[in-house]
Amino acid sequence: MNLADIGEFGLIHRFAPQFLRDVQDNILGIGDDCAVIPHGQSESLLITTDLLLEDIHFLRSKIRPRELGRKSLAVNLSDIAAMGGTPLAAFLSLAIPKDTLVEWLDAFFAGLHSLSDETATPLLGGDTTQSKCGIVINIAVLGKAHPQQIKYRSTARVGDVICVTDVLGDSGGGLNILLQNLEHETDPDMQYLVQTHHNPTPQLAEGQWLAEQPSVNAMLDVSDGIDSDIQRIMEESKVGARIDIESIPISSSLNATSTRFGWNAKEIAATGGEDYCLLCTIDPKKYDEMANKFEKKFNKPLFRIGVIQPGELLHYYQDNQSVDFAKHGWNHFK
Ligand code: ADP
Ligand code: MG
Repeated sequence: MNLADIGEFGLIHRFAPQFLRDVQDNILGIGDDCAVIPHGQSESLLITTDLLLEDIHFLRSKIRPRELGRKSLAVNLSDIAAMGGTPLAAFLSLAIPKDTLVEWLDAFFAGLHSLSDETATPLLGGDTTQSKCGIVINIAVLGKAHPQQIKYRSTARVGDVICVTDVLGDSGGGLNILLQNLEHETDPDMQYLVQTHHNPTPQLAEGQWLAEQPSVNAMLDVSDGIDSDIQRIMEESKVGARIDIESIPISSSLNATSTRFGWNAKEIAATGGEDYCLLCTIDPKKYDEMANKFEKKFNKPLFRIGVIQPGELLHYYQDNQSVDFAKHGWNHFK
């Protein structure tokens, strides 16, 4: 058996139990968007880390260094948002080929600094080394949250409404444009999709607001695509889910571009990944009230896309018929 047979999550399930056994009851280890460590009575520390590799997570020829600097921090802040936390500090480990232009690095750090400044997440340390195989960027972010308000992947309940805090698939559409080398400079919709792919916004304010709502039962950020990410909630909460394809929210830019190139917009929205919005499950009796309040506060809908069901399977429905996608969410190695 090799790694491709079990995939990223198969590997994590294989090695995690031996480490989880050693973890004290009040600490949350492997399995959620962040680790959670209590710190006094009224605060918990959140810790998350993400790796970005050249040619796997980004193409140096396609993304500006300033955008890459921002994105490297944004994807970590998104995991803090997923727990309802507030970021406190960041640490950066970098491996860089020695022929990298210093101007490229200056722009990378200027981008990183701009988001660190906007979100009050100072860079407090890291490590720097030479690379012989492209740029490697690892950021770890430390955050805090109120222990009673933290939202987990493991606490979804049967009957909960599944919601997302933004349209899906714009980033996946942008990636398609880049990978297919499509001319996009003159088309505002295509430009917007590429921009969304390169410049995700971590939804810290939405995450903190949702964390304050007792009717939100579970939450995570959409990094691999809802098709894959909902399965993280299903595994941790031991539930199944139904997603209604008609309800998956899609921007007019993705719609227009998909029509133009014959793409399946709903499939891109479900499986494309890197949306970095939040997915949460809400007590069905409270959904209408919550959606109203959310829309007033954030000027956008809290999109309802499905329901948590008994069992362990994910079902897609279109016009009340069970359907499936040809492609599934991102899973390294598979
Ligand atoms: P995310 O997409 O939010 O970064 P994932 O769903 O990819 O999280 O990861 C699932 C869980 O596995 C997380 O709790 C993460 O911290 C943990 N994890 C992933 N890779 C490793 C690793 N190499 N060592 C320890 N824990 C890991
Ligand atoms: Mg996450």
